[in-house]
Amino acid sequence: MRLLIAEDEEDMREALCYGLRKRGYAVDEAADGGEAVELCEVNEYDLLILDLNLPGMDGMEALRRIRQQERQTKVLILSARSQIEDKIEGLDRGASDYLTKPFHFGELEARVRALLRRSFLQPEAALVRGGLRLDTAAKAVTVNGRPVEFSMREFAILEYLMVNIGRPVSAEELLEHIWDSEADPFSNQVKVYISAIRRKLSAACGQALIRSIRGAGYVIDREESSC
Ligand code: CA
Repeated sequence: MRLLIAEDEEDMREALCYGLRKRGYAVDEAADGGEAVELCEVNEYDLLILDLNLPGMDGMEALRRIRQQERQTKVLILSARSQIEDKIEGLDRGASDYLTKPFHFGELEARVRALLRRSFLQPEAALVRGGLRLDTAAKAVTVNGRPVEFSMREFAILEYLMVNIGRPVSAEELLEHIWDSEADPFSNQVKVYISAIRRKLSAACGQALIRSIRGAGYVIDREESSC
């Protein structure tokens, strides 16, 4: 999943980026409202974490402009302002959730997970298909009850395919949602990661589960099998 953090306080921005990248998210950063709006025009983010007190264009105005782009991006407002009026205005302008500073990183991450699940109509914390189970909070995978180790990025790819189960996902879409702006669109990184995931799944359950469809991408089929 790909996130954008719009926050002008460098320490806070760096801490959020560090924490969320460590949890396997692709994270881009913006230091003011204008930059956030521009990045949202160019990239398709799954979630925007938006500070309200930003230099230049403030967070509320940035939110208004991003909503005009008709993107489905979820917005989590982050602000030191604790006044109820700001929360109401933010939610009225299309924010999905609101968190007041100071906050605990664990709470932020739980809200991020909840919002991302909502955007894929996934009410459960675990993604399940047959014997394959992804715990999105613990970032852990089991196959028929036995743990299988995946790197953060492998997990992120598998998670993205699972929330889009039954729909082929192109390599470009995976690059857009799993990698940050450092991604090289001409590399074969996606292919390399997909083969590693397939190898691990095959070893665990005898099936690669991820099917390639020429010209369309990769898909995990809906039907249940032994794993
Ligand atoms: Ca600020």
